[in-house]
Amino acid sequence: MAAQLMPGQPVADEVLAAVAERVGEMAAVGVTPGLGTILVGDDGPSASYVSRKHEACEANGLRSFHAEIPADAGQDALMAAVAEFNANPEIDGYLIQHPVPDGFDFNTALGAMDPAKDADGLHPTNLGKLVLQEDGPVPCTPAGIQAMLVHYGIEVAGRHVVIVGRGPTLGRPLALLLSNKGAGADAAVTVVHSRVPDLAAYTKRADVLIGAVGQPNLITPEMVRPGAVVVSGGITWEGRKLLPDVDESVGEVASWITPRLGGVGPTTVAMLLRNTVAAAERRMRR
Ligand code: NAP
Repeated sequence: MAAQLMPGQPVADEVLAAVAERVGEMAAVGVTPGLGTILVGDDGPSASYVSRKHEACEANGLRSFHAEIPADAGQDALMAAVAEFNANPEIDGYLIQHPVPDGFDFNTALGAMDPAKDADGLHPTNLGKLVLQEDGPVPCTPAGIQAMLVHYGIEVAGRHVVIVGRGPTLGRPLALLLSNKGAGADAAVTVVHSRVPDLAAYTKRADVLIGAVGQPNLITPEMVRPGAVVVSGGITWEGRKLLPDVDESVGEVASWITPRLGGVGPTTVAMLLRNTVAAAERRMRR
C-alpha cells in the first residue's frame, strides 16, 4: 500500500489566509502586529528558520524585529534583549530561537519573557494554560501537527496516538494538546522516549504515530501498524539535507504520511504568526 502524503503547505496557507484577514482588520484601525526574534549564536539552520519567519511576516502584513546575540556575549546580553523586547510596545509577540549555544540558559531567558508576548507558547505560564485549557498561545509545532490532522480528516478522538519523544517544545505539549477535551483532540495518548527499551511494542499499537525526537529514520516500517497515520515532527539537518524521524519506507505500510520535505515545517511558521496576531488582538482589548 502506498500512503497518501500530508504536506504542510496547504494547511499553512489556510492558517495564513485567516491571519492576513485579521491583520487587514487591525490595519483598518491603525494597528500593525509585530513579531520579534532573538537569535543567539551563528547556527546555520537556526538563522535560516529565523529569516523564514521574517519573510512570512513581510508576506502577511506583520512588522518584524530582530536581535542577534553573539555566541560569546553571555547570558546578560540575552537577558537585556528580553527586557528590551518586553518593553517595546511595537512588539506583540517574540521568540528566542532555540536551541541556544552552550553557556546560555534558555529556560531562565524564557521565564523572564512577558508571557503575553510569548509567540512560541513555551513560557511556563502558557504551558500551564495549555494544561488548564485556558486561552493562550499554543506551542507552534504541536498546534501545526494538530491542524494537519484536522485538515486531512484524520480523527484522533478516542483513538490511540503514540508520540515518540517528550521534549518541552514538541512531544510533551503535543501530548497535552491531543489529550485535551474538544475538537481535534480527545485522543488516548501514549508518550515514549529514550528510556523505553522496546519502542516498537508501543508504536505498533498506534492509530496515529508521531515522531518528535530528531533522530533520522528512527521509525521504520516494522514499528508501524499497517494503515496507521505517521507524522514526522522531529527533523535533523545533515549538512543541507533535512532528515525526518520517519524512514521514507514507512510510506509502504502507513495510510497517511508526512513528506520528507514540506511536512510539518510550514505549519510551525503559520502558527507563530497566528499566535502573534492573537497577542496583538488581546493587547487591543486591554
Ligand atoms: P528534545 O527536547 O531534545 O527532545 C527529544 C526527545 O526525543 C527526548 O524526549 C528524548 O528522550 C527522545 N529521544 C531521543 N532519542 C530517542 C530514541 N532513540 N528513542 C526514543 N526517544 C528518543 O527535542 P525537542 O525540542 O522536543 O525537538 C524534537 C524534534 O522536533 C527535533 O528534531 C526538533 O528539530 C523538532 N522540531 C521541529 C519543529 C518543526 O518546525 N518541524 C519545531 C520544533 C522542534 P529523553 O527525554 O529520554 O532524553
